[in-house]
Amino acid sequence: VFSHVVQAPEDPILGVTVAYNKDPNPIKLNLGVGAYRTEEGKPLVLNVVRRAEQMLVNDQSRVKEYLPIIGLSDFNKSSAKLIFGADSTAIQENRVTTVQCLSGTGSLRVGAEFLARHYHEHTIYIPQPTWGNHPKIFNLAGLSVKPYRYYNPQTRGLDFQGLLEDLGAAPSGAIVLLHACAHNPTGVDPTLDQWEQIRQLMRSKGLLPFFDSAYQGFASGSLDADAQSVRMFIADGGECLAAQSYAKNMGLYGERVGALSIVCKTADVASRVESQLKMVIRPMYSNPPIHGTPGDWSHIIKQIGMFTFTGLNTEQVAFMTREYHIYMTSDGRISMAGLNSRKVPHLADAIHAAVTS
Ligand code: PMP
Repeated sequence: VFSHVVQAPEDPILGVTVAYNKDPNPIKLNLGVGAYRTEEGKPLVLNVVRRAEQMLVNDQSRVKEYLPIIGLSDFNKSSAKLIFGADSTAIQENRVTTVQCLSGTGSLRVGAEFLARHYHEHTIYIPQPTWGNHPKIFNLAGLSVKPYRYYNPQTRGLDFQGLLEDLGAAPSGAIVLLHACAHNPTGVDPTLDQWEQIRQLMRSKGLLPFFDSAYQGFASGSLDADAQSVRMFIADGGECLAAQSYAKNMGLYGERVGALSIVCKTADVASRVESQLKMVIRPMYSNPPIHGTPGDWSHIIKQIGMFTFTGLNTEQVAFMTREYHIYMTSDGRISMAGLNSRKVPHLADAIHAAVTS
C-alpha cells in the first residue's frame, strides 16, 4: 500500500550533516548545521551544562512523573524573565502566558497552531530570506505565508526601505515574524532606531509581532541587549508572541528545551489563552520532556509468558528486597502472576530507586 511513496528530498540544513557523515575523506569540514564545535571539530558541551547534569544525577529526590501539559512552571517563569526582562510590567501584571515547548521549532509550531485557531488574520509575513523551516512550520499550521523584503544583496545589509514598504502594504492585523536578534541566515539585524520605526509602523497598522528568539546572547554577548527588540514591543503594552530556543545559547541541541510566550492585554485574557494552548499541545505531544529514566524498559511489554526478565542485576535485586521487601530470583526475573495492580506503584518505586541509586 505504500509502494507509490516517492523519495523525499533531504532537509536542506540537516541533510548537509547526512552528506558530511557519509564522506570518508579526513579533510572534511561541516559548515552546515549551526552547532558549536571544539577546535577538533567535536561537539561542545558547556561546563555549566555538565555541572547541572551532575547535580541532576546526584539528586535522589527527583522523580520521573509527567510534567504538566505546559511544562515546568519555574522554567516558564525564568524563560519569560530572560526575554522580557526581570522587571517587565507585562509579567508583573500577569499578562504573559508561557508554555514549555519542544525547543524553538516546537514553540513556533504551537504558536502558529494557536493563531490558526484563535486569531482572525491567517497571513504571516516572514523575512526574505529566513530560516528554511519557517515557511513549512507556518504552512502546516494552516497559516498563509508571504515574504517581506529584508536583505539587500548589493549592500549585503538590511533592505530597510523594502521592509517598511512591504509591512506598510500588509493587511492590518497580519502576523509578522521577526528574528529577535542575529537574523538567520543573513546575520543582519535592524539598529535600535530602525526597530523603533518598525514597531511604530506595526503598531499603527495593528500588525501582530511573532518573535523568533533562537540566539539570545549571541548577537552582542549580552542577554539583555539581545532582547531589546522584543522589549520595545512589550513596553508599549501591546500584544506579542515570542518563541525561545535554548538549543544554541545553552548548547542544548538534543534536549529540545524551549518556550512560547504570548503577551496579552489583560491577565484574564492570558489565562484563557493558556487554556487554549493546552488544547493545542495535549493532542500533539501531551507534555514536554523532563529527564529520561535510565534504561529502556520496553522489554516489559514485549516479553511474553508468566515472567518478565527485568534486566535488574543481583545487587539491585538485593537492594529491592532489603529496602522495599520485594522478593524475586537474584537473576532479576519477576513472576507477573505475583503482581497485582495495587502493588504496581510500589514495585515501580523500588525499580526506580534500584536503577538510580
Ligand atoms: N529559529 C531560527 C531562526 C533558528 O535558526 C533555529 C535553529 N536553527 C530555530 C528557530 C529552532 O531550532 P530548535 O528547534 O533546534 O530550537
